[in-house]
Amino acid sequence: MHIGIIGFGHFGQFLAQRFLRAGHQVSCWSKDPEEVVAMQMGATFYHDVADLCDAGCDVVILSMSIVSFAQVVQGLPLQKLHGALVVDVLSVKAYPKEFLRRVLPGACDILCTHPMFGPDSGKESWEGLTFMYEKVRIRNIGVCDAFLGFFAEEGCSMMEMTCEKHDVYAASSQFVTHTTGRMLGKLDLKETPINTKGYEQLLNLVTNTTNDSFDLYYGLYSYNPTAREQLARLEDALREVKNSLFERAKVGRSTTLIGIQGGSGSFNHAAALELIEKYALPHPDIQFLITSESVLAALNNGDIDFGVFAIENSASGTVLPSIYSMSKYPHEIIEVHDMPLVQCLLTRPGQDPHTAKKIVTHPQAILQCAETIAREFPNLTWDYLSDDYDTAACASQLGAGLLPDDTVVIASKIAAEKYGLTIAYEGLNDDRDNFTSFVFCKRRGA
Ligand code: NAP
Repeated sequence: MHIGIIGFGHFGQFLAQRFLRAGHQVSCWSKDPEEVVAMQMGATFYHDVADLCDAGCDVVILSMSIVSFAQVVQGLPLQKLHGALVVDVLSVKAYPKEFLRRVLPGACDILCTHPMFGPDSGKESWEGLTFMYEKVRIRNIGVCDAFLGFFAEEGCSMMEMTCEKHDVYAASSQFVTHTTGRMLGKLDLKETPINTKGYEQLLNLVTNTTNDSFDLYYGLYSYNPTAREQLARLEDALREVKNSLFERAKVGRSTTLIGIQGGSGSFNHAAALELIEKYALPHPDIQFLITSESVLAALNNGDIDFGVFAIENSASGTVLPSIYSMSKYPHEIIEVHDMPLVQCLLTRPGQDPHTAKKIVTHPQAILQCAETIAREFPNLTWDYLSDDYDTAACASQLGAGLLPDDTVVIASKIAAEKYGLTIAYEGLNDDRDNFTSFVFCKRRGA
């Protein structure tokens, strides 16, 4: 047979070598001039694809990338292919089948194929490797049989199947294989002196899939509608596997671990206590993780079962660090819990707030209480320690005698109880209806 190959890349060259070895004549064309490679293997390279189409090939194989396929075929002088068997080898099938039927002249036969192997997996023998095909439009049975016969003689397992059915199977086999190989490739896995057979297979998978062009992988994704579904399923599957590990680690632990944004005695703490009661969480063990980022990271790592953090206050607005952290870690919101906030001015026992000089608290609390402080306690200026010190942490510092004598704090009622402080003024917030929205969440899929 005289075989023309359009798209003389990785795969086109691989096929050409086998055809030449079996004594067939090969003519080829590709965008990049691969003249030397062609010459070395004994094929004829055409610089103008029109000349190749005019060369009287019995079979013309379309072996360009999936993404360039339509553009390349439309640019061919298709009338010159009159009487030839046009074969595509694209790794997706319904798309070229529909396209070739539409654009090829009626005098061309069409065979859609997918050799389910490549230069790496088919480097040695093709014995037992699957060759899928659909005879889309065949009049010259002799040429078609001769072409298919070549693969059968090489030992391929010949599989006649519709292109549509191929794509459904390929999304769950080929696309999943390529995605897994590329994903493992990102791990930069190395040979070890104690490789298992399974590990060696993984290393081979990485090599086989990452040696293929990204165009090929992208083609598998974008021209097979089922691939998107498989990608989503892969993500879910990893999450499920992770969750099953975390669930297993919980066996034998009777406590429910709740990670919260604030410290002990914070409003987050108060919100967590309300949520624990509402959802009747058994044996709650509250972990004071201070920031919403730490809460979400701990949830994602399986270190806690539930998370609580503030996202908005009616007076001071959005809690931006929480919003940014939410965009970083997957989680599932169980409830956005609104809780009225009653800010209190807390002093050490016996301390007079009217003679104190400074309030130390979190900036969010100052934003909520500025007017009332100016009116009721004009003697007080405010200061804050750092973002790590929420209202409860400031109260704890005051209770422990770690702040100067002329200092008071703004914090919750439960902080007063916790750190042995006196409530000098209850309801310091300017807005009577001051409330904060807290996210109560769990791991996604848990
Ligand atoms: P690929 O990246 O899918 O395709 C590379 C080929 O496409 C090269 O010949 C390249 O030409 C050509 N090409 C890309 N963009 C082009 C453009 N704009 N105009 C003209 N030609 C263009 O890699 P491949 O592995 O060689 O695969 C070729 C075909 O075989 C694909 O359809 C693939 O799905 C199918 N296939 C591959 C394997 C495999 O294991 N690799 C197995 C079965 C089927 P230049 O080199 O001149 O840029």
